[in-house]
Amino acid sequence: MNNQTVESTIDELKSLLTEKQIVTETEELYDASADRYKKYAKVKNVLDVPMPIAILYPHSTEEVKSLISYCNQNDINVIPRSGKTATEGGLENWKDKTVVIDGSRMNEIIKIDPYNMQATVQSGVKLQTLEDELRKQGYTTGHSPQSKPVAQLGGLVATRSIGQFSTLYGAIEDMVVGLECVFPEGQVSKVKNVPRRSGGPDIRHIAIGNEGALCYITEVTVKIFKFYPENNTYYGYLVENMDAGLKVLREVMVNGFKPSVARLYSEEDARQHFNHFYKDKCVLIFMTEGPEGIVKATNGAIEEAAEKFDSHIFEKVDSSHIENWFINLNWDQSRIDEEINEMKDHNSHDGFTTEVSADWENVIKIYNNVMHRIRNEFDRADELTMLGGHSSHSYLNGTNMYFVYNYTINCAPEDEMQVYHHPIHEIIIEETLKCGGSMCHHHGIGKYRSEWTKAEHGSAYYMLEKLKEAFDPKGIMNHGTIFPQESEIKKFIRS
Ligand SMILES: Cc1cc2nc3c(=O)[nH]c(=O)nc-3n(C[C@H](O)[C@H](O)[C@H](O)COP(=O)(O)OP(=O)(O)OC[C@H]3O[C@@H](n4cnc5c(N)ncnc54)[C@H](O)[C@@H]3O)c2cc1C
Repeated sequence: MNNQTVESTIDELKSLLTEKQIVTETEELYDASADRYKKYAKVKNVLDVPMPIAILYPHSTEEVKSLISYCNQNDINVIPRSGKTATEGGLENWKDKTVVIDGSRMNEIIKIDPYNMQATVQSGVKLQTLEDELRKQGYTTGHSPQSKPVAQLGGLVATRSIGQFSTLYGAIEDMVVGLECVFPEGQVSKVKNVPRRSGGPDIRHIAIGNEGALCYITEVTVKIFKFYPENNTYYGYLVENMDAGLKVLREVMVNGFKPSVARLYSEEDARQHFNHFYKDKCVLIFMTEGPEGIVKATNGAIEEAAEKFDSHIFEKVDSSHIENWFINLNWDQSRIDEEINEMKDHNSHDGFTTEVSADWENVIKIYNNVMHRIRNEFDRADELTMLGGHSSHSYLNGTNMYFVYNYTINCAPEDEMQVYHHPIHEIIIEETLKCGGSMCHHHGIGKYRSEWTKAEHGSAYYMLEKLKEAFDPKGIMNHGTIFPQESEIKKFIRS
């Protein structure tokens, strides 16, 4: 895009917003050109992607509508943005002609409705802000991703996020009652708030998880729950291995109980979190919450499962260790900044995660195959400072596996992802798909899993592709996210 065109576009945008709502400073545009996925390259000033031409801050649905319609008419790529905690390249820019539409100034809590147990917010409300308001009144959203202090409702819905207490409260898709969103052709759609309906397919799901590739979410209504912190109970056990720990997790789930937290850490991952007590074993954690009678019954089920699998359990841990660990688990903005500053000043160490899911039978096969292949096939395995994983979200029919890998960077910053992250990520995804699992339990597809979107969905990819064709016929929404773009994958991922 030549300067003339950029300038005339900015001039035209000024007729849609005030000057204060349009940011074009180079530093901000550089920051907006990639998310945490390329954080190391970003801090080292070697990002290889184009910068957007502007960051736009609408205040209302009407303004979002006029901006998106303008971009659609003028073939300008749109990257919707909320709390900027994306981890899979959903905020990375692959087009010269791009604007970022940042919803963080649409930050009004519209209504808290305790009688109908729901709360409605604009999409730029931080989850922490809503949660703090609800707690004052004795309620909770039940949603607690580690990014809770920073992430906003728009981004949380757009990525199908999940929180630490999901086993009891569910993930975001179980919480969203209704929402409002804007499509590229200027259509504003509101899905009304009802407890349930059978009016055709569930159209909430066109917006939930769309990662900004189909529509812009402007308003969200979520369920709220009564909060009973006085009944919270914590359990911790050391177990021999992942297979044994998964058997205990499964036992609790298939017997029909819902602890709010059910987690299992591999020995390597446990070393990072529970160094003071883990004794080279895997760590199994439960937390229960809710009304007293339910908590008592769930506690009984956990204790029964632990007794049944007594031979796998090495030791019961003091519950205060687990409670203290939870208190410090979330990441606020200062912790995110600290990590970035650390990279600027000292560098040379990074870590990533790839989170997958599978049924009970296959999850252990995936875990073992992945560990074996990375240790034996990854040519830089000796530079890994940590390789392990944990299961953190369990269901009646299976669980997730959150692979974690950290390494020392011994290459040019711009090559890091290609040299370290990509080969490991690829092994995890290949092994997961081979066993019939999903390559993305949470965090979404972004741009960095899009090379496997078709393999993930198989024959159902037809349905996904048709949504893109129908709702974004000119392809202006978040180019390269979810829907694979071969030439950019070659250029920005595999080069
Ligand atoms: C420290 C840390 C901890 C995390 N912990 C968790 C966790 O526990 N669970 C979990 O699920 N995820 C977690 N994540 C990932 C991330 O926080 C979530 O994916 C979160 O939902 C992103 O929200 P956000 O407001 O930051 O969105 P952003 O990062 O701004 O955007 C994320 C994606 O959604 C799109 N998008 C944003 N806003 C809109 C909108 N209004 N309409 C349409 N599309 C939109 C963007 O284009 C992008 O593709 C974590 C990330 C970090 C950095």
